[in-house]
Amino acid sequence: MSNINNAITFNYIGHVLSPFKEKFAIPRQPGLVSAAQGKVVLTGDANNADLVKELSQFSHIWLLFVFHGTQTQGWKPLVRPPRLGGNKKIGVLATRSTFRPNPIGMSVVKLLSIEVKNQQVILHISGLDLLDKTPIVDIKPYVPYSDALPDAQAGFAQAPPAINLSVVFSDSAQLALKEFSEKWPELAPLIEQVLAQDPRPAYKQGKNDEKIYGMTLYDLNIEWQMQNLTSLLVTKISKI
Ligand code: SAH
Repeated sequence: MSNINNAITFNYIGHVLSPFKEKFAIPRQPGLVSAAQGKVVLTGDANNADLVKELSQFSHIWLLFVFHGTQTQGWKPLVRPPRLGGNKKIGVLATRSTFRPNPIGMSVVKLLSIEVKNQQVILHISGLDLLDKTPIVDIKPYVPYSDALPDAQAGFAQAPPAINLSVVFSDSAQLALKEFSEKWPELAPLIEQVLAQDPRPAYKQGKNDEKIYGMTLYDLNIEWQMQNLTSLLVTKISKI
């Protein structure tokens, strides 16, 4: 389906710089991959240090954003969440699917620091689940007394995904990690945490799998292969 009527126009206030250059292998929620570091670059009238004055009092912030990478694909009333194995359909508004009537996403991320350099405001963040260049429409402080509800019921999404694959690096991948660690100090934990979540399609889980997979992080191509049901080998890390 396409957009609903009664359009509201917003201006982006910034965009994200993220290690995740394609949708495949992005964590399915924020906070699952703490080693994912990125930036929010404020733009236009919002690129003004006044807007973020005292924001650094908060350890975490909400990012409201547009799912620009899937926006043109429209939406459906029923979707199949990966958490339900990808074969059960439920209402789109009962999920965090990207294919919603309005393609708006929300993520809580850690606010590491705020930098103003050559009149450019940059928020350094971690734990993101966002595609590179994601447009940001709003930023708000995370307020635990109201936003964190430890007793809340969350049905099929009560606990974080149970998947935790063990990740082993080949000799050549280890050499590459050394080579790139100066530029990207968090590269090893980033690869490990992303792959431990098992980014393969839900129907592959718990099955033998010979396929060689590839993903892009920063400007690196990373290849891996399952070794058994619970462990995988990173075979290759190379510049694109
Ligand atoms: N925390 C958000 C997003 C959850 S869905 C929310 O609850 O609203 C998470 C998935 O969104 C990621 O796995 C990634 O595949 C996808 N994603 C992230 N940024 C995106 C973007 N800009 N466009 C399209 N999809 C995106």
